[in-house]
Formats: sequence, C-alpha cells, structure tokens
Amino acid sequence: MTENSGSQLDADTVRSTVAGLMPDLLAELEALVAIPSIAFPGFPSEPVHAMSEAVVELFRASGVEDVRLLEIPGGYPAVYADVPGPAGSPTVLLYAHYDVQPAPVEQGWDTDPWTATRKDDGRIYGRGAADDKSGLVIHAGTMRALAGRLPVGVRILVEGEEETISHLEEYVDANPELFACDAFVIADMGNQEVGRPALTTALRGDVSCTLRVRTLDHAVHSGLFGGAAPDALVALIHMLATLHDEEGNTIVPGATTGEWAGADFDEPAYRQSSGLLDGVDLVGSGTLASRLWSKPSATVIGIDAPSVHDASNVLIPEATAKVSMRIVPGADADHELEALIAHLRSVAPWNVIVEVEKIKVGWPFAVDMSGPAVRMASEALETAFGRPVEQIGSGGSIPLVATLKKAAPSAEVLLWGAEDLALARIHASNESVDPREIENMVVAQVLTLLGMGETR
Ligand SMILES: [Zn+2]
Repeated sequence: MTENSGSQLDADTVRSTVAGLMPDLLAELEALVAIPSIAFPGFPSEPVHAMSEAVVELFRASGVEDVRLLEIPGGYPAVYADVPGPAGSPTVLLYAHYDVQPAPVEQGWDTDPWTATRKDDGRIYGRGAADDKSGLVIHAGTMRALAGRLPVGVRILVEGEEETISHLEEYVDANPELFACDAFVIADMGNQEVGRPALTTALRGDVSCTLRVRTLDHAVHSGLFGGAAPDALVALIHMLATLHDEEGNTIVPGATTGEWAGADFDEPAYRQSSGLLDGVDLVGSGTLASRLWSKPSATVIGIDAPSVHDASNVLIPEATAKVSMRIVPGADADHELEALIAHLRSVAPWNVIVEVEKIKVGWPFAVDMSGPAVRMASEALETAFGRPVEQIGSGGSIPLVATLKKAAPSAEVLLWGAEDLALARIHASNESVDPREIENMVVAQVLTLLGMGETR
C-alpha cells in the first residue's frame, strides 16, 4: 500500500469516527449555550462557575480523567488538563474559552440567546454557540476521536475570562511550565465562509489613548465670545479629522502599514457581515484584505462633551476623545502608540492645551508559517474540507497568544475554528454556528495531531 492511500484510509476512518460523535457533541454544545457564562463585572458569578464545572464534565466525558480547575487569582477558574502522549512525542496545547459576551435584548435577538435554537439553515443559534463554545466541543470531539490512541501529549487550557479583563496572563507568566508545548491550537477563529478552510496567520493588535483638549477656564456665551475664543470641541474635531484622508485611509505618520499577501476578503460577505447600510461606501484603498489585516485603522470610540440633550449656546471649555488604532501584525505596539500620540499632538490648532493619556498597548501577532505543525495543519484542513487552504487575518487581537508564546517560545501557533466570518455574528445578535464547520474542524484537528505524532 502506498503512503498516500494509507493516509487517505486514515482520513476516511477519522471522518466516519467524527461523524458518529457529532450528535452527542451538538447536544452538549446546546446544553452549554444554555449557561449564561458572562464573566464581565456586574454579571452573576454562579453561571460562570457552573460553566467551568460543565467544561470539566465535558472533558471527563471525553476520556480526559484528570481534568481540573485552575484557580486564577482575582478571576474565574480556567480548566486545565495534561494528558501524556507516547514517549518522545510532541505536546500540543488545545485552547478555547468558556466565557461569552453579554446578549442584551437591545441587540435585537430573534430567539432567546440562552436557548440553543436550530433553524432551517442548519445553524445553531445562541450566545456563545460559535464564540467560543464551538471551540470547546471541537477540542472535546478531538479527544473522543483519539481516545485510547493519543498520538501526542495533549494539554488543555480553557479560559473563563477571554471576553473581559483576563487574569490568566499573569498566571501563565507565573507558571510557564504548565503551558510548555510544541504547538498551541487556538480554536477561537473561523473561516471566511462555511466550507472554505482557512488558517488565521495574522492578528491585528490595538492601541488606545485619551485626548483631552482645553481652551477656556469655563464655558462662555457663544454669542458674546464665539468667533475669537476657541471652542475645545471644535479644536478636538479638527485634530480627529486628521486621522484619515479623503478616501478614509488612516494616515498616522510612522504607523506601520503594508499589503496583505494571503487571500482577499469577499466584498459582498464583508458588506453583509458588517451590516453596512445600502449605498454607503467602503472606506480606504487597496485590497479589502489589506485594509482589514495589514493597514492601521484609527477610530474615535468615545467623546466626552455636552450631550445634545444638555446643549446650550456656549463655547465648550474642555472636550475629550478616546482614540483607538488597530495595528498591523508584526508591528511594535509601543512604537505604534507613540506614533499615534505624536501625530495627535502635532495637529493641535491654535495652541490649545492638549493632554494625552496612554490607555492600552495590545500587541499584534504574526504566525510563523515555516514550522512542521503549521504545514501539517494546512494539509489536514485541506483534507478535512476538500478544498485548498486560505491564509487570512483577524481583527480581533488575542493578547494571551503573546503571553503563551513567552511560556513556550519555540512553540508553533495554529489559529482556526468554527466561527465563520460571513454568518457567525460573534459578539452581535443572532450569533450562530454551522455544525458542518465543527465537524470538519474536529477532523482537521485529529488529522493534525495524528500527523504530528508521526513526526517524532
Ligand atoms: Zn472568542
């Protein structure tokens, strides 16, 4: 038998094994969606703890006997396991998160977000169905499919605070030995569309600052003083308007920018998933993928100034904006924030008083594509989905990835999952997942682990 037909046979066996696991996995996913595990401050803690226990049970039911809770100081527990593989085999760490975004009624859900609902399109709707409870069942399915013949050592890490202020990074820094491995598999991403396999190879970072402009000691009558004394809000607007050119490109001198070399992003899918209103133009120039994944993008995410409701005819003495800039994979986050701040200071008109405060330095991440795990994963995706693999970026930054890389500097990183960009609507109303994505992702993960086991 040639090597090719051998691995083909393996893939078919894996596929039918996984198909047999799907009914249970989907039932478990539906049960997990019913637990509102929102780890944000101000939300009840019981469901979050209940969810951590449910995740322990999920993995116990997947043959992982010594799965346990890690108490994370100041935060919710993480779920952890360390399952040894055959002697000399590599170790893979499977990551997902069990906390979810809130799902307020104002978002306009068509069904109850905490009742998993199957619709005619075959998708399962509910908060967390994709982000990231799909990741949990992908990992559980992987362990079940390989039960009793694990080809590699597996570590499991399921975080409970990914969507909010995470305390896990400090824990990883303090206990790096728990997270040592040869490859991290982060199942918290998605393909561009269902059935179109992709490896996420770049994560944008983000930096932010507040910008306060002061011009007057106190508010004064705009009829008596307007026209000569500068209004702080008008000055602020002048400054903010310099962040973009006429086309809408972010133009901050010194900010890193480039062209995207991987797959382009589908414009109709982007328009649909972004909810862009009919007739409204896209902004920026270059390919859509470049605009999303390899160019900086500055946004004004908040302004403190009198509200329209409280508006009166005065010159405004002080106004503040919070400015956020998504930054390019591979860039130095500290440098990007300095560039943003230097630019804002340089465009202040009329010698107004400007105070800038740094708020956030979120590092971007670029996947090293040269390692064996990435190659294996790429082949496995292609086999699982029956289509060539695309390289895509992601706007959402995952700061933990950088922290994990510090714990295991030579480990490779695989970023993928069942949160398809076209329809999953993570963080928004009517979040959903397509079960076929989960199934194909389990197949891909199993094949990747089998492949890595053979390389030892
Ligand atoms: Zn997520």
